[in-house]
Amino acid sequence: MVSLNDVKKAHEEINDIIHKTPILTSSLLNVRCDREVYLKAEHLQKTGSFKIRGAANAVKQAMAEGACFITAASSGNHGQAVAYIANQLGIPAVIVVPEDANRAKVSAIKAYGAEVEYCGLTSADRIPRAKQRAKENNGVYIPPYDHPAVIAGQGTVALEILQQVMEVDVIVVPVGGGGLMAGVLCAVKNMKPTVRVVGVEPESANDTFLSLRQGEITAISETSTIADGLRTLQPGNLTFPILKEHLDDSVLVTEAEIIETLQFLMERTKQLVEPSGAAALAAVMSGKVGGKNDKVAVILSGGNIDLHQISNMLES
Ligand SMILES: *Cc1c(COP(=O)(O)O)cnc(C)c1O
Repeated sequence: MVSLNDVKKAHEEINDIIHKTPILTSSLLNVRCDREVYLKAEHLQKTGSFKIRGAANAVKQAMAEGACFITAASSGNHGQAVAYIANQLGIPAVIVVPEDANRAKVSAIKAYGAEVEYCGLTSADRIPRAKQRAKENNGVYIPPYDHPAVIAGQGTVALEILQQVMEVDVIVVPVGGGGLMAGVLCAVKNMKPTVRVVGVEPESANDTFLSLRQGEITAISETSTIADGLRTLQPGNLTFPILKEHLDDSVLVTEAEIIETLQFLMERTKQLVEPSGAAALAAVMSGKVGGKNDKVAVILSGGNIDLHQISNMLES
């Protein structure tokens, strides 16, 4: 479905667009976790999250196939990533966002040069509208995770981790719709299958955890986790079979564990990470992943958080 070669090709396609983000370490963190921890700093990525990897690969592919218009349906990191890359590549884009979308996020999308259209409140309203706008304009709709080019693009982060962290034992990845995880698995399980890969979700957004336990895609009815990038209600049709086949373990973190981890990252390592971006590290810091002598690589997946949100969290 998505081969190691697809991930390698994606890396060649997007290499000059993305940052090769650094690996951060902290001796205090190693002491706290009682193991060596390596943080893959995707919060320092262009547009503030790894989403640019998949978006850049998918938009380039669509353009190579003749598209002259791009749409997406997200006010979050995917919407920002698609807006940015469309602008860079000189192709017009419309990002369909919910009527109650966060203003800061909408202005970021506009600043990247995309048109913003408000539509409804749920993805069931937004996605058909984004697809329709694409169809009307000889364009292509870019989904946030359930697309082979998006999965291959997200997998490029794993190629970098395998190169940057010698003899890594475990890679810990946050899971929303599963695009990032599916990409990581397609790369790691074909290149270094002995490396264990662990997925992390908030307790209240445990759709992938439940789906893996049931052996089939299982939806949850709602979630209000602060980790807004992980609020998907079910894993994707393309992503889930990859997770089901290859994922070594799936663990859950509480809201309090996510907030404590954000505070630690800010105070001790001076890194500003959003709640979804801190979930994987929260699992390691609360002792839910790996053994004592493991070298653990953790994806800090994004850093888009506004000061208002931070002050609310620090008061809670
Ligand atoms: C989208 C996103 C995720 C989850 O990625 P999926 O591919 O949907 O599983 C995790 N963290 C951040 C910051 C995100 O933007």
